[in-house]
Amino acid sequence: MKRLVILGAGYGGLALAQKLVSLSKGHNSWKVTLVDHRDYHLIQVRIHEVAANSIPAAQIKIPLSELLQGHKVESIQAKVIKIDPVGRTVETTSGSISYDRLVVALGSVTDFHNIPGLQEHAFAMKTLDEAILYRKAVVEAFRKATAAGAEPLRKNDPRLTFTIIGGGLTGTELAGEMVDFCNDLCKKFPTARNAYRIVLAELTPHLLPELGAENGDYAMNDLRRKNVAILTNSGIDQVLPGSVHLINGKTIKSNIICWTGGVKAPPLVKESGFETTRDGRIEVNHNLRSKQFESVYAIGDNAFIHDGRTGKPVPQTGQYAELQAAYLAKCFAHEQPGVTPEPYTPFSMGISISLGRGEALSLSGPLKLTGMPGRVVKDLSYTKHELGVRNVLPEVRLG
Ligand SMILES: Cc1cc2nc3c(=O)[nH]c(=O)nc-3n(C[C@H](O)[C@H](O)[C@H](O)COP(=O)(O)OP(=O)(O)OC[C@H]3O[C@@H](n4cnc5c(N)ncnc54)[C@H](O)[C@@H]3O)c2cc1C
Repeated sequence: MKRLVILGAGYGGLALAQKLVSLSKGHNSWKVTLVDHRDYHLIQVRIHEVAANSIPAAQIKIPLSELLQGHKVESIQAKVIKIDPVGRTVETTSGSISYDRLVVALGSVTDFHNIPGLQEHAFAMKTLDEAILYRKAVVEAFRKATAAGAEPLRKNDPRLTFTIIGGGLTGTELAGEMVDFCNDLCKKFPTARNAYRIVLAELTPHLLPELGAENGDYAMNDLRRKNVAILTNSGIDQVLPGSVHLINGKTIKSNIICWTGGVKAPPLVKESGFETTRDGRIEVNHNLRSKQFESVYAIGDNAFIHDGRTGKPVPQTGQYAELQAAYLAKCFAHEQPGVTPEPYTPFSMGISISLGRGEALSLSGPLKLTGMPGRVVKDLSYTKHELGVRNVLPEVRLG
């Protein structure tokens, strides 16, 4: 039996392990090993909701033991340290693992782009711990600013100014959720009396630059109506304790700063000898196979591939990661010597961007839903993912 090792039990890696085992039922052609340093699957796309206290952290952690129960998958909880793509081994904190095929699905880490002071003085929004830290810091800011003996709050007081840098998907969603969170905190700490300010700074002329000007402007107008200060064309020069300095010379005085402006593949990918894109991704061919090492594949945030129809790189989203996993599962399950599988075709069912607890902008082809109907679509996408990882379908249960 050949050994397939999958690195990462996130949106791509977990789906691949579950789907491949389900499709190979009865064939037993692959021994599947899934490696992750966590013992749970993180619903990554909802961490900003934890940060803004919209949902509890426990809601987005699903134990892998539950999700893999009944699946013939060897699950190893270990941190991947290095890959040896020539010797076909992976070095982990629990020892070395050899493979016949490897799928790299390690997701991404925050990229601070070497902006002076950013990493030191800003929160990031990529891990659950970071989301929880941010949530605590926001509550603490309200508590301190309204404590007995505290100086009265002024207009645009840095103590209650929450700056989010990066107006892409994560930053825009966080800004919307923060409005609701801060409104709740104004009730809990009444002397704050709406004295908070949320600032969202974006480098390009529009929010959500990957979704086009019209959608970005919709999100901008919606957030502005909720008193979020949006600064476009606002690159960051440096961050100091309590202030963000923009390239255009302006300064935002703000005690709580969050960076949502960039991700990159974990550095270990490049350090393992892969030729990568600037953001550390592995360039793959139309079968999601590394162009450099035949036995290695990459999916999700770790894969770099162009969409032949648009000429643009395939976006790094959970949905693409899952669909790439489904494609690879089929390729591996139906593999025949000397036969090249059909090429991978990027496909998207659409995207939803939350703009607060009760609303979202949902886009699917020419369809656009906003407000509560948009939010219903967003929530359905969460439910679909959760049902998918929890059940797959009854017939794929093996145990
Ligand atoms: C706040 C936020 C909101 C988002 N919203 C959306 C959205 O609305 N829709 C959407 O489609 N996408 C969204 N995304 C993007 C989406 O989360 C990612 O594109 C998706 O999770 C990528 O899937 P993946 O399998 O490549 O990586 P991940 O899902 O991140 O999984 C990577 C796995 O690798 C593991 N891992 C990492 N390093 C190591 C190591 N060294 N050793 C062992 N294990 C390791 C991690 O623990 C993790 O389980 C959002 C992202 C963020 C941060």
